[in-house]
Amino acid sequence: MLPLIAPISFFALIAVCRSVGAAAAQASSSQSKIDTLLDCLHRNIPTSSIITPANTNFVNDSIRWTTLAAPSYSVLVNAGSEEDIATSIQCATQSNVTFLATGPRHGYSITLDSVQNGLEINTAFLDHLSVDPDANTLTAGGSVTFGQAIDALYPIGKEMPTGSCSCVGLLGGSLGGGVGRLSGLHGLVLDSLISVRLMLPNTTIITASKTENADIFWGIGGAGFNFGYVLNATYRIYDQVPNGLHLNADFKFPISQVQSYYERLDKMAKSQPKELSILTLFNYDADLNETIITANAVYAGPEADGRAAVQFLFDQNPLISNITSVPWINLLDTVGFGFTGPAICKRGNRRSQWVIGVNRLDPDAYTTASGIFQDMITRYPATLDSSIDVQLLPTQGIIAVPDNEAAYPWRSLIAHVLLEFKYTDAQLDGIVDGYARRIRDVIVRTAGTAGLNVYVSYSHGDETLEEIYGKQKLGRLAKLKKMIDPEGLFDAYHALPTAYP
Ligand SMILES: Cc1cc2nc3c(=O)[nH]c(=O)nc-3n(C[C@H](O)[C@H](O)[C@H](O)COP(=O)(O)OP(=O)(O)OC[C@H]3O[C@@H](n4cnc5c(N)ncnc54)[C@H](O)[C@@H]3O)c2cc1C
Repeated sequence: MLPLIAPISFFALIAVCRSVGAAAAQASSSQSKIDTLLDCLHRNIPTSSIITPANTNFVNDSIRWTTLAAPSYSVLVNAGSEEDIATSIQCATQSNVTFLATGPRHGYSITLDSVQNGLEINTAFLDHLSVDPDANTLTAGGSVTFGQAIDALYPIGKEMPTGSCSCVGLLGGSLGGGVGRLSGLHGLVLDSLISVRLMLPNTTIITASKTENADIFWGIGGAGFNFGYVLNATYRIYDQVPNGLHLNADFKFPISQVQSYYERLDKMAKSQPKELSILTLFNYDADLNETIITANAVYAGPEADGRAAVQFLFDQNPLISNITSVPWINLLDTVGFGFTGPAICKRGNRRSQWVIGVNRLDPDAYTTASGIFQDMITRYPATLDSSIDVQLLPTQGIIAVPDNEAAYPWRSLIAHVLLEFKYTDAQLDGIVDGYARRIRDVIVRTAGTAGLNVYVSYSHGDETLEEIYGKQKLGRLAKLKKMIDPEGLFDAYHALPTAYP
């Protein structure tokens, strides 16, 4: 008699053969899609612009800010014209290959890994920038960075709201909202947006503004990556603060002061001047060889007023402090002992980002969070370069704009609490997720919000639609999505549904 195990092994073998067969069939069908795509591209786009993984430039040309949940590509087109973008979209659609059109590649949502073996449409050529100082406008290509906008405006005595790191896309940042240090004076970056030239998913190009395609313009302001690709956009600009100088104050405090530090910060937040922004980190300091609180305050106004506004941080008795006047053009690389400078912009690291929007700062919650953070870096020293970053940005300019002006849903948040994990070993992903969720739970419980509210461009990607886009905005956004992108071609980054609820 045959042993009982034999028939089981036989069926198991058949199952394995079937799954190997299915995988082979899938691989061959996906290869045939790529062949169709390449054929289409080669007929319409210069060969030198079409790059495959065999090309030595492929990795460098597609490297992203984080390797976590990064999309994977079989083909990369370095577009050289708007027609190249349109052709790439058409070829990808006809070949049934997913695609991602990219700016400076600093988006980090884990939703991006929905693009696998896809096509990257690199739009780096959209880097043109022009300023009209008389009309107070700046027009920027879809791939221009915050840093390039600052470089163009500072020499002519103008400014605009930007994000806190120079390497991030101006459009990539604006389309979710765009939070930054000048929000007390000028609102979100999107609040300065006047119009966009948008390539729709069907590759027609339209202009959208408050007076033309106003509904689309509304959706662009908070969910803009869902409706096509912005080729260029025009923003309002402003006369810069006196002499373009900002007072920059950097501090290091011992972590033992976390409770009293947050009591002080919470008190100040209740009457935060519109010129004052404060970023506070828990981080490991290599020089001091301990976890500390690093604080950075920037005052966009006269030095004497700035010194008075940051005095409360001197009263907290810092270990180290440094106060200087910094021209706007150097600000982002200088603040916080350089913590938003070139090092944070570097691509190719493994970074896991999470965020919680808050309406209040609860000192107990931050004390607990700092304990969890220290536990993580002690047990897992490979996570030592991580930090918790509380961005307390002034809201006067943000709340001055009525909520129904744009899709952005979270105008009343006073701060964004960013959990920023940096490490190299992918095997730590699960551990890091666990710590992130623990800290997020602690902060959200005392955030003073109805549940978790997250700014889309900072979100991790595991949140619900309501937590990202806000329940009150989703009905209108879903109708727009159905009208403009019913097939979900622009679904890789925080896809909207086509019906809600
Ligand atoms: C180091 C760092 C600092 C940051 N600081 C800030 C900050 O201070 N304030 C803030 O608000 N955000 C900030 N962010 C978040 C940032 O706004 C988002 O990560 C944003 O998505 C990055 O845009 P990108 O164009 O650089 O990235 P990409 O990865 O190129 O693009 C991200 C997504 O946006 C889409 N997209 C980009 N450009 C366009 C366009 N022209 N038209 C249509 N869709 C487009 C892409 O298709 C993709 O889906 C920061 C991010 C990083 C990594």
